[in-house]
Amino acid sequence: MPQDVPGLVARAREGGSRAVARLISLVEGASPLLREVMAALAPLTGNAYVIGLTGSPGVGKSTCTSALVSAYRATGRRVAVLAVDPSSPFSGGALLGDRVRMSEHASDPGVYIRSMATRGHLGGLAWAAPQAVRVLDAAGFDVIVVETVGVGQSEVEIASQADTSVVLLAPGMGDGIQAAKAGILEIGDVYVVNKADRDGADATARELNHMLGLGEARAPGDWRPPIVRTVAARAQGIDELVAAVEKHRAWMAEHGVLTARRARRAAHEVETIAVTALRERIGDLHGDRRLESLAVEVAAGALDPYTAADKLIAGLTHG
Ligand code: GDP
Repeated sequence: MPQDVPGLVARAREGGSRAVARLISLVEGASPLLREVMAALAPLTGNAYVIGLTGSPGVGKSTCTSALVSAYRATGRRVAVLAVDPSSPFSGGALLGDRVRMSEHASDPGVYIRSMATRGHLGGLAWAAPQAVRVLDAAGFDVIVVETVGVGQSEVEIASQADTSVVLLAPGMGDGIQAAKAGILEIGDVYVVNKADRDGADATARELNHMLGLGEARAPGDWRPPIVRTVAARAQGIDELVAAVEKHRAWMAEHGVLTARRARRAAHEVETIAVTALRERIGDLHGDRRLESLAVEVAAGALDPYTAADKLIAGLTHG
C-alpha cells in the first residue's frame, strides 16, 4: 500500500491517533519506509519523558499503568502507553480497549494506548520498541509508559532503556526470587510493592530492601531507589509513585545523568539496528552460499572459525 510519509508524520504531529497507529504499524512490520520515517521524526524527538514499567505477570502492571495515566492526565499531560507483549495474540496494533482496566481512557484524546508485538522480525522487540517510542515522542506525548512483562531478557532490557525504570512486585508468589532471577532487581530506579492491601506486603518490602542493599551506605549524591507501596486497584499510592518518578528525574537532571542515559539509549538503539542489518546481510549471503561454503571448510578443519568470520565480514563490507 503506498504511504505518504511526510503526510503521515504531519498528521501524527498534530495528534492524529490514526497516523500514529499507522507509523507504529510500519515499525512492527519492519517496513522499508522506516528509514524515511525516522529521518523525518528525528528533529521532533527528545521531549517526552519515558517511564519503563516491568514486573512478573499478575503483579498489577496494567492496573498501575492505568492509574498512572489518570494521575498524569490530571496534570494536563498527554500520555502514551506502549504495552510490549511478545505473547500478545493481537497484532497490527490492537488498541487495548479490550483490556478492561484501560477502557476508561479509551475516549480521552490526550491518551494513546497500544500493544505491540513484532511478527518474527530479526531484531525483535529490542529493535522495535525504541522506534515505536520515537513515533510517540515525535507525536508530542509528554509521558510515554513502556510496559513489559519482566520475564525475558529482551523485555527487561526494554524496560531498562527508559528515563526512569519502575519495577513492580506484589506480595506472595515468591515474587522477589522470581524478580531476582529475571534480573529486574538490577534495573529499577523506583520499586513498587503493589497490592499493599494484601498480607505480606511489609515482608515483600523488607525482602526487597534487603536484596537491593538499601540499608547499606552509598556515596553522597548517589540515587537510592525508593520503595513505594501502592494499591493500584484503588489508585492508592499513585501520587507517591509519580512523586518518586519526578524526584528521580530531578536527580538525573541535577547530576547530568539524563543526557548521559539518553545517549546510552541511543547507542544501544544504533547498535541494535546495525547488528540487525548485519545479520540480514549475512542471511542474504547464506542464500548466496558464501556462508555455507565457509562453514563446510570450518567443519572439515580446513579453516578456523575466526578466519572464516573475518572473511564473512570482509565480504559484507567490501563485497
Ligand atoms: P499485570 O498482569 O501485571 O498487568 O496485572 P493486572 O494489572 O492485570 O492485575 C492482575 C490482578 O491483580 C487483577 O485482577 C487486578 O485487579 C489485581 N490488582 C491490581 N492491583 C491490585 C491491588 O493493588 N490490590 C489487589 N488486591 N489487587 C490488585
